[in-house]
Amino acid sequence: MTATAQFDAIVIGAGSVGNPTAYFLEREGLRTLVLDELASSGQGQNKAAIGGVRATHSDPAKIRLCQQSLEVFSHWKETTGTDIGWKKGGYCFPAFDEKVESTVRGLLPVQKSYQLHIDWLDADGIRGVVPGINPNGLRGGTYSPDDGQVSPLLAAESFTNEAVRLGAVYRYREPVRSLVMNGTSVVGVRTDREEYRATTVVNASGVRATEICAMAGLDIPILPDSHEGGISAPIRPFLDPLVVDLRPGPEGRTINFYFGQDANGQVIFCYTPNVPISGVNRTSTSEFMPIVAARLVEVIPRLKNLTIRRVWRGLYPMTPDGSPVVGKAPNVEGFVLGVGMCGQGFMLGPGVGRSLASLVARGTPTIDREVFDRLSPARDLSAGKKEALK
Ligand SMILES: Cc1cc2nc3c(=O)[nH]c(=O)nc-3n(C[C@H](O)[C@H](O)[C@H](O)COP(=O)(O)OP(=O)(O)OC[C@H]3O[C@@H](n4cnc5c(N)ncnc54)[C@H](O)[C@@H]3O)c2cc1C
Repeated sequence: MTATAQFDAIVIGAGSVGNPTAYFLEREGLRTLVLDELASSGQGQNKAAIGGVRATHSDPAKIRLCQQSLEVFSHWKETTGTDIGWKKGGYCFPAFDEKVESTVRGLLPVQKSYQLHIDWLDADGIRGVVPGINPNGLRGGTYSPDDGQVSPLLAAESFTNEAVRLGAVYRYREPVRSLVMNGTSVVGVRTDREEYRATTVVNASGVRATEICAMAGLDIPILPDSHEGGISAPIRPFLDPLVVDLRPGPEGRTINFYFGQDANGQVIFCYTPNVPISGVNRTSTSEFMPIVAARLVEVIPRLKNLTIRRVWRGLYPMTPDGSPVVGKAPNVEGFVLGVGMCGQGFMLGPGVGRSLASLVARGTPTIDREVFDRLSPARDLSAGKKEALK
């Protein structure tokens, strides 16, 4: 590559958002360069995700974007011939108390208004979709059979391969050190090796997004906090949906707990700690396994003999208001953001990537503009900022 190689688009970050964005930019006919500071694709927070993909949110923008992600993931094998571990097992939110029942039932009208396939099932119905679930106090729950799971590592590899097949250039171990500016326009990036020029630069740098935005003079607060996950040895397939238990755990240590069985039969699990653990430390804690094991066995007692293979700790790129930051940067030409994905970047990735590519190529996202603009980088992100930094 020459000292100032020219591309149509440069994507910073080969992660949950960057890879699908590069793929869709190439599909729009734009010659794309992807830069990542790590050694290969998907090695940031993408590989920390357990791979849950659902459109059954409450926020219209997340619903619309994840509907598109589901379309991409569920047809990926027929589109490309590559298996990325897609499993259409649905999501289930069981309710063991009145509060959770009222929360999940309360979301149904908005979810149904977006034609999502989700319903309230009684306790017998939930026992049917979650075999072995603890019947004590079970009141029923919601079930959305069209949601599912995907392997984040297989997906990263396959998006990368397909983007490269279409013409994208990937360069690893090459952190972006600065943006090339022309007045208030971003016209390229600099790494230790080279300067690259492009009409559009997409910031998809995950937990490092604030730093990259600052290079263009933008203050976009993306605050990493850490979450742990784990996976068992494979067992006979018995569980279709990902199960989300919204009850706080004993001693107030967890806000919720979720688990599922992936396409290989491995049980995967996570919880949300009650007190957010801010920062970038990724060393596994000693408290995760005892807490998560107790929660798992409480929900499905017969999992008490499960063999745990591995645990890990990853980071959510959080925003002060809990919503992603997606769209053209305010007052800076040539700079587009796909950042602040919080705990849902893997499922949002293809939907966000498709809309960003269309925004760059055609000036319009692939979902309704009004809904897309709910995630606008121009919104006031300072409101919750002090709160989030506490
Ligand atoms: C335990 C756990 C479970 C999760 N489960 C799910 C789930 O089931 N479903 C779901 O949707 N989400 C899940 N998530 C969240 C998900 O992992 C993140 O939201 C998502 O990976 C963020 O995507 P991203 O593209 O913004 O960041 P990343 O995937 O981290 O990609 C950003 C990339 O940018 C690169 N980069 C950063 N700075 C630079 C630079 N200066 N120059 C070049 N490259 C740079 C990084 O190396 C990285 O590869 C989970 C997270 C955790 C921790």
